[in-house]
Amino acid sequence: MHPPSVDAIARELAKSFTLPHAVLVHCAREAVRDAPQDAQGVAQDNALHFSQSLLTTVVNGTGVLLHTNLGRAPLAMTDSHRPTNLEFNLANGERGSRHSSISELFGQLLNVEDAIVVNNNAAAVMLVLAALAEGRDVAVSRGESVEIGGGFRIPDVMEQSGARLVDVGTTNRTRLRDYERAIDSRKNDIALLLKVHPSNFSIEGFTEQTTISELATLEVPVVADIGSGLLDNTAPWLQGYLDNVPSWIAHEPAARQAIADGADLITFSGDKLLGGPQCGVIAGRADLVAQCAAHPLMRALRPGGHTLLALQNVLLSYSARTVCSQIPFWSMATTPLQELATRAERLIAATGVGTSVALDSLIGAGSAPGSTIASHGISLAGDQRAALRRHATPVIARTVANTTYIDLRSVHPDDDSIIIDAVNSLK
Ligand SMILES: *Cc1c(COP(=O)(O)O)cnc(C)c1O
Repeated sequence: MHPPSVDAIARELAKSFTLPHAVLVHCAREAVRDAPQDAQGVAQDNALHFSQSLLTTVVNGTGVLLHTNLGRAPLAMTDSHRPTNLEFNLANGERGSRHSSISELFGQLLNVEDAIVVNNNAAAVMLVLAALAEGRDVAVSRGESVEIGGGFRIPDVMEQSGARLVDVGTTNRTRLRDYERAIDSRKNDIALLLKVHPSNFSIEGFTEQTTISELATLEVPVVADIGSGLLDNTAPWLQGYLDNVPSWIAHEPAARQAIADGADLITFSGDKLLGGPQCGVIAGRADLVAQCAAHPLMRALRPGGHTLLALQNVLLSYSARTVCSQIPFWSMATTPLQELATRAERLIAATGVGTSVALDSLIGAGSAPGSTIASHGISLAGDQRAALRRHATPVIARTVANTTYIDLRSVHPDDDSIIIDAVNSLK
């Protein structure tokens, strides 16, 4: 028997995969080598495996609004072919700063003197520590010496930055007096007081924390890593959308309040509750921001123009109070329950399968842990997750007790048609 023809297998694959010919030939050649008896079938698996390894847009039916595995806050980036004035000053035609628009917008929104942007909040914390405390001590409450998902551990970041961690207080109670003692100790050379929002866990019971306002009474600069990037916990952008500010917002530490309370610098992520692109923001006192900007690490951590443009547009939405219609995370979070129920009914009518179910969406990304938003979706019999992931635009669902749930709060209404196609393809 002749070995199967690589070319014939690749041409067969082209009927079901829109991948470059060279990729299909590669899949076919490996299949012929590994399984000559079933080369076409194995080549098919190889091609599926390859296409599922590609980055692609997906429909998030999990109900986790900021899904870490799906890149947290969804956001459309510009698809213009044109360059931007990233480091070009349109006023005088000379070289400009890539941070000027962001600094101006954060200045107005947060009442800060200056702001810069790096690739993520881990980088922001690292840069602040390296620029302001290298070779010196940083005081952190034992209750805030935390690990945030994805391997961000305060002691490790501290060590990498070249700053030394000085633990203050105890795991459950840390008082102002503990920080004072650390500053006064002749053993220490405290450069900063670092407050870290424990984001994805909470300590309950006999607890006491020191607030930013209390720390601001001491003479050492206070840096607050607030994490989620909630701009303001009075959430003025919700007016006209929700009657009350939900408790998951009211209880999150927010940038504007942290600055008003006296933090000298704050750091936060761009792609959590801010609803923007992946980035990290350092905002606050101009002299401290300038020290961070001048540090050699800044060159390694600076974001690209696509990120800055997307962030700028998000901040303009906050200024315009169009957050709930323009920023996908906030649209999802504020969609009325009745609208979701109506969409579920429409999906069921269009596919002839599924059951309309009440669900609870999660905020996700370690923000507002434990808080849920009432939601609605559809359920399907059996575990359909793998089949839904194989759809041309993969649909990511959840399965509990052999029932598959698609939560519509995390799905853009325009994508209901994709869910209809995906569910129809299960039949
Ligand atoms: C999420 C988070 C981080 C890490 O931010 P990334 O943007 O993922 O790097 C750091 N600190 C706090 C408090 C956080 O919540």
